[in-house]
Amino acid sequence: MQPSGNLHIGNYLGALQNWVRIQRDYECIFCVVDLHAVTLPQDPAGLRAKIHEIAALYLAAGIDPKACSIMVQSAVPAHAELAWMLTCVTPVGWLERMTQYKAKSAKQESVGDGLLQYPVLMAADILLYQAGIVPVGEDQAQHLELTRDIAQRFNSLYGETFVVPGTSLPAVGARIMGLDDPTQKMSKSEAAANHAVALLDPPDKIRKIIMRATTDSNPAVDFETAGPGVLNLLSIYQAFSGAPDDEMKSRFTGLRYGDLKKEVAAMVISQLEPFQERYRRIVSEPGYLAGVLREGAERVAPIANETVRLVKERMGLWV
Ligand code: AMP
Repeated sequence: MQPSGNLHIGNYLGALQNWVRIQRDYECIFCVVDLHAVTLPQDPAGLRAKIHEIAALYLAAGIDPKACSIMVQSAVPAHAELAWMLTCVTPVGWLERMTQYKAKSAKQESVGDGLLQYPVLMAADILLYQAGIVPVGEDQAQHLELTRDIAQRFNSLYGETFVVPGTSLPAVGARIMGLDDPTQKMSKSEAAANHAVALLDPPDKIRKIIMRATTDSNPAVDFETAGPGVLNLLSIYQAFSGAPDDEMKSRFTGLRYGDLKKEVAAMVISQLEPFQERYRRIVSEPGYLAGVLREGAERVAPIANETVRLVKERMGLWV
C-alpha cells in the first residue's frame, strides 16, 4: 500500500483483510511502497509519518510479523535497481494504456515520468521476490496483467528468470465504491467529505458518512433491482461480516434504506473499533514498529539481491 492519503475500508476489504487470511498459507512479504507515493508531490515529514502509520495499520489488522515480513520499499534498494532493468524491456505503449495512468495524468498540468513508470516499479516489487501470488483489489488487476507481460517478455528475451505471478482477488469487496458516488471506486485521493470511511475514523463520523451514502429511488432493498449504491452498502456489510449470500438475502430483502444503513454502520463500527484499539497500542511503542520494519527489510533483502544478481547476469551487466 502507498503511504499517501488515509487508508479506507476499500483498502481494508480489497487487500488488507485478505492478507491476514492468507498470511499462514504462503511465505508472505508485505511492503509499504513509499517510492510509489512520490510519483505525486508529498510533504517529506508527512510522508515519513504516513509510512509508520501504514505499517502500524498492517499490524493492527492482524498481520503477524513473526509469520510474515513487513518492510518499507525504499529500505531495499534492489526495488529501484530492478525497476530500471525492467523499464528497458517495457514498451511505452504498454504503460500509456494503463487506466490509472490515464486517470491520474488527466488531473495533472504536467505529468511526471514517475507516474508513467509506476507500474514498472510495481512489477519490480513483485518479480524481485519471485512471488507466486499477489493479493490485491480489482483496481490493480490490470497492473498485475502488465507485470506478467513484463516477466514473460524478459524471460523470452533473456531466458527463464522470473516466476510469472498470479492475482488473488477477494470473493467479496474487491472493488468498494465511493459512498457519495457509487459509480467511482473508493479512493484515497478523493477529497469529498462523504466519499470514504477511513480506517481511523471515529464511530460518529463513520455513522454519519454511511447514513448519507447515495442510494437510489427504490424504497427498500430488492436484490434484483438494487442500484450501485445499495449493492455497495450490501458488499461492505458482507465483506466485513463474512455472511453467505442466502443469509444476506433473508436479512436484508425488503429492509428500508435507512435501516440498511444503520445495520451497515453498526457492522463497520463493530469491526473497526477493536482494530483502532490495537492501532493505538502499536503506535504507543514506536521502538517496536521500527524493529519490525528493520527485521522485515533484513529478512527480504537477500532474496531481492539474489534476483538482481541473476537479472544482471542474464542481461550481461557487471556482477
Ligand atoms: P492503494 O490505495 O493504491 O495504495 O491500494 C492499496 C490496495 O488496496 C491495493 O491492493 C488496491 O487494489 C486496494 N484497493 C484500493 N482501493 C480499493 C477499493 N476501492 N476497493 C477495493 N480494494 C481497493
